[in-house]
Amino acid sequence: MLTNHAPTAELQAIDAAHHMHPFTAGAELNAKGARVITRANGVYLTDSDGNEILDGMAGLWCVNIGYGREELADVAAQQMRQLPFYNTFFQTTHIPALTLAKRIAELAPGDLNHVFFNGSGSDANDTNLRMVRHFWAAQGKPEKQVVISRWNGYHGSTMGAASLGGMKGMHAQGGLPIPGIAHINQPDWWSEGGDMTPEEFGIARARELEAKIEEIGADKVAAFIAEPVQGAGGVIVPPDSYWPEINRILAKYDILLIADEVICGFGRTGNWFGSQTMGMTPDIMTTAKGLSSGYAPIGASIVSDRVAQVINEAGDFNHGYTYSAHPVAAAVALENLRILDEEGIVERAGKVTAPYLKAKWEGLGDHPMVGDTKIVGLMASLALTPNKDRRANFAADAGTVGLICRERCFANNLVMRHVGDRMIISPPLVISESEIDLLAERAWKAIDETY
Ligand code: PLP
Repeated sequence: MLTNHAPTAELQAIDAAHHMHPFTAGAELNAKGARVITRANGVYLTDSDGNEILDGMAGLWCVNIGYGREELADVAAQQMRQLPFYNTFFQTTHIPALTLAKRIAELAPGDLNHVFFNGSGSDANDTNLRMVRHFWAAQGKPEKQVVISRWNGYHGSTMGAASLGGMKGMHAQGGLPIPGIAHINQPDWWSEGGDMTPEEFGIARARELEAKIEEIGADKVAAFIAEPVQGAGGVIVPPDSYWPEINRILAKYDILLIADEVICGFGRTGNWFGSQTMGMTPDIMTTAKGLSSGYAPIGASIVSDRVAQVINEAGDFNHGYTYSAHPVAAAVALENLRILDEEGIVERAGKVTAPYLKAKWEGLGDHPMVGDTKIVGLMASLALTPNKDRRANFAADAGTVGLICRERCFANNLVMRHVGDRMIISPPLVISESEIDLLAERAWKAIDETY
């Protein structure tokens, strides 16, 4: 077994020879070598060269309680000793599954009282896709099958989830999308709003949903799926007018709403769920990531009384994963929720940390190269621009400037991700004020060095 003390070059060579990375141009990475992360604590990562890197992304938007919480390791070890695995198929259950389901139902808003467990956010969305179609079919409406989603939304990488997603680069590979999925445009005012005010634009983009429903026929549309705030698409925060109009349209045509809370759930937007922050009343919420703070892979579809009743009474729901409600992952998630709650992490994130980060983040807007800054809770983006007055893009170099900025961030020991020319952050919810100061300082320096 290689240790943390193995030379970086040796680790990189093995990685290049055998490890295929997600969402990565393999040959390009293998030529330069991957950055090897060896340990982490609080909001800091350590790499194999001993650099301490401030993780502005909480891993992949997931390490909400921060790194290094021994309690989760203890709970995992204890659960592995007691019951490392059992399934919840075929009329069995176990204590971590039922306890976690109850706790999630207590935290979730409204009548979202039922939980179907998954292994990740992607397969949670596959569950939801099948569940909403089954919901209508079980009520004698088998033609109500189409799910509408948004271009540039992200819902995961399985065939179903990637089809729901609106990432054109993903659709271009592997035969996507599967049938029965339609897309509308995203509410990205900065890039696509033209001469409209944000409020006018929010209404206009919401009404694309109405137009799409009328085009397909409401009797054929099962559900609309959307992230409360688009994450992987570049932290696209919809104008205030958007969600109320979407709510009106969904109610008018009796179409279910799936809120994809894989990023927004468990404190990211300053409340337990993004639906609460954005004023949505979903029938199903997709969750994963922050549910266990990434310490164990687990996803949960949180389902309303109305939907659960139909599904439960319709006989077998022929769907599930070996690792649905994996006992170790469930026990870890439960401990994570206890910490988030008892230490007041979600509350503090919303009331104290988010306003502090907002002030610092918007301060980056003073940089001549920074246009739009957007922030909700502890997820934020800024658009790099050659001319902020014209809301201009780096047309010819689109994406390259963002990539350079991300590299400059790395060089300054900060993880900040880029989506095209938008830089995004989503730090652990436990980030302190002095760590936010450092994040902003390093981000400014990296932007300065970019262009
Ligand atoms: N949905 C959203 C909103 C996400 O951001 C992600 C991942 O980033 C997913 C679904 C997919 O989750 P996973 O990567 O756990 O499959």
